[in-house]
Amino acid sequence: MGITSLLVWSIVFAAISAIIANNRGLPVGKWAAIGFILGPIGVIWVLVTAKDEAVQEAKSLSTGKFKKCPFCAEVIKKEASVCKHCGGQQASAPSPSAQKTYWVCGKCNETTETAKKICWNCGAPKV
Ligand SMILES: [Zn+2]
Ligand SMILES: [Zn+2]
Repeated sequence: MGITSLLVWSIVFAAISAIIANNRGLPVGKWAAIGFILGPIGVIWVLVTAKDEAVQEAKSLSTGKFKKCPFCAEVIKKEASVCKHCGGQQASAPSPSAQKTYWVCGKCNETTETAKKICWNCGAPKV
């Protein structure tokens, strides 16, 4: 087999891997490269990986500890504030400790954080 036909086959397998990867939502460029280098092995690999990732993803999501990034659709930890795959900022549910409570001033009717003992507006002490 000459170098030219080898190259043709590499491109064919790269294309097959890329199509499979695209259908399964895997990174196309990465799998095209793997198909190009490994040929039929790369194609088998992408098929196995696609199946594995789908199973893994469903498993992770069912535990409730993980969620899907809204930007890149990768599975990340629920507590993550930034996606480890794409760096996308996650809208995290505020933890109970971060939630602020307020009290209403009897003098001016302004609301002040519970943590503060005096009204931010008129300086009247909390009652
Ligand atoms: Zn992401
Ligand atoms: Zn006040």
